[in-house]
Order: sequence, then structure tokens, then C-alpha cells
Amino acid sequence: MKIRSAILRSDGVSQPYAHSKPIHIEEIELDPPQAGEVLIKIKAASLCHSDLSVINGSRPRPLPMALGHEASGIVEEVGEGVVNFKKGDKVICVFVPSCGHCVPCAEGRPALCEPGAKANGDGTLIGGGVRLHTGKEQIGHHVGVSAFSEFAVVSQNSLVKVDEDLPFEKLALFGCAVITGVGAVVNTAKVQLGSTVAVVGLGGIGLSALLGAIAAGAREVIAIDINEKKLQQAKEFGATAVFNSKDSDVVEQVRNYTGGGVEYAFETAGVVPAMDVAYAITKRGGVTTTTGLPHPEAKFAFPQVTLTAEEKTIKGSYVGSCVPLRDIPNYITMMKSGKLPVDRLLSNIITLDEINEGFDLLATGDNSRIIIKMGD
Ligand SMILES: [Zn+2]
Ligand SMILES: [Zn+2]
Repeated sequence: MKIRSAILRSDGVSQPYAHSKPIHIEEIELDPPQAGEVLIKIKAASLCHSDLSVINGSRPRPLPMALGHEASGIVEEVGEGVVNFKKGDKVICVFVPSCGHCVPCAEGRPALCEPGAKANGDGTLIGGGVRLHTGKEQIGHHVGVSAFSEFAVVSQNSLVKVDEDLPFEKLALFGCAVITGVGAVVNTAKVQLGSTVAVVGLGGIGLSALLGAIAAGAREVIAIDINEKKLQQAKEFGATAVFNSKDSDVVEQVRNYTGGGVEYAFETAGVVPAMDVAYAITKRGGVTTTTGLPHPEAKFAFPQVTLTAEEKTIKGSYVGSCVPLRDIPNYITMMKSGKLPVDRLLSNIITLDEINEGFDLLATGDNSRIIIKMGD
């Protein structure tokens, strides 16, 4: 079938994107779902920093590629052998497909699925190959989803079915920002009731981590960013203190305020200076967790002795170490009861044709979640 889709053909072009227009809305061909795959009509798709990282070249991917990965939609058609989804189901896309059979999947760590990681790196579906093309030219899938499109064919292992009667733009948030941010707090770091937490970087993932830490019962939840608007938003979300990391003595300020640092620090900006701050404000015996995706050549350095003499721990958290089938429905229920108000992340709604301007808005750092609402 013919679909309209947002295609990136070259990365690293200059901003503003409203002028350089790195993303083209093109009419391309979408093949029918193969065995184990599902055709979905995309209803809402968020602009995430990891899309921006592909556009600006800091996360190199094979091009051309159809972008977009934080999304919700409705099942239109299922391929052979698909039994858990049917036409009309509401679904949320997950950006790491999990095969269910490799060792990490068998251990209950689907975020680390090995065939899923390989397919995502190659820009293919986990079933092999691509379903997007223009004539003979193949177009890559972004992390198995490619949601800035009218329709998408994805593996059934990239979907979680939801029964909730909620707007699609709210459901979309759960596919990346919420599971990554909240999951980092509760699954990876396992923040304890009454503990002290700091979040460095207040994008969609950082604000989700902040809300997750509050929901987990941290007594102190500190927000750190370079953007004053974000710090204000963090206060409104319930941060107990905010610090601007443009201040050269931000580490000293946080260490003084907390009496030596926090038990759990989270780096969600994906840049080394943010990781430097997060590690430096982690107190003796504490845990620094990063969800960021910096350029593959970026290196984080730290005094090795602090790992031993201060018993510090550094952890990585991919997709919030989530089990999407378990966590997405749980977090949605918590949002509905007001315990995890992640729908407050939603800041702007735009159309598919406004996507380049949307990424300019995201790059300013003023907005948390900009969502493309797809037409009916
Ligand atoms: Zn994302
Ligand atoms: Zn697997």
C-alpha cells in the first residue's frame, strides 16, 4: 500500500531544520505484514531525542530511514501466525523487539534481546528485511517501528496491547519516555522509599524519571538541567530542589545541599558533561544510572579509586530495563489513578507536515513531549 512517511536521507545537516528540512514527507510503498507481523494505523507519535540523534548524526544509522519510535495506533491487519492481536486492537509500540528465545529474553531482560539489537542496528524488522521501499530503493525501519508514517508494519514482538480508553497521544508516551525514565528508577536502580535522588537532564525521559522517583517514595528528588524553563517545570512536577548545571559549581551546590551527594543519580541527557555531574553528585555507596545515548565515540572518565574507596556503582539502563508487557499496563494504571502523572509531559501537538519545525522545537530544550497526531 502507499503511505505518507517521514524519511531521513542524510544526517548531520545544520539547524534550523525548518530551513534545511532534513526530513522529507514522501509517498512510499509499505509491504503487507509477513508471518508474525502486524499492520498498524499510527494514531500518535512523539518526537524523541533519539530521533533527533539520528537526524543530527550523533547516533549513526543506515539511511534512508523512516524515523519515529514512540507511538500508539490501531491494528489493521495481522500476518500469518499472529494470535495475540486482531483488527481494532489498540497498541503501543516498543522500540526493542524481543524474540522471546535468546538468553537475555529467557532471563526476563527483553530490552537486551540479541536479535532485536541486531535488527535495530541494521534498520530491518526482527523477521529480516524491510517492508518499506520506493521502487527498488529500500528504506530502513527506525528501531523496528518507523512511526512518523500513516501506517507501519512491525513485528508482533514490538507491540503491547492496551485496553484503556485514553487518548492515543497519551498512550504513545509509554512507548519510550515513560518506560525508559520510570524503568531506570524502579527496575535498574531500584530506588528505595525515603532515599535521595537527583536527575540530570529534564527531557521526556528525565521528567519521567523524576515522576518515577516521586512515585517510588524518594524523600528528596533533585532536578538538574541547563534550561530554566525545565527547572520550573520540574518544580511544578514535585522536585524538592532544582539546580542549573550551567553554574560551574553545580556539583558543589548539590553536595552541600544534600550533605555529600545523593544515593541515586540519573543521567538522562546522553552527554558526557551531564554524566560527569551525575557521578560527582552520587554520594559514597551510591548508584549512578545512565539512560543516555551519547555518540558512540564519546568517553566518560572518572577517578577509578572512587569505585573502590567510595563503593560507587555505575549502571546502564536501556529501555528502563523494562518488561514492556508487565510495565506498560502497570504504569498506565498508575497514571490513571494520579500516582504517576506522566501525561503532564505532553507539551505540543503538531501534524506530520510540521515535523522539521517540531524537531527545532525539541532541540531548544523548552518542550518535553511534542506529539504528531495523525489524521483519521
Ligand atoms: Zn525515544
Ligand atoms: Zn530475544
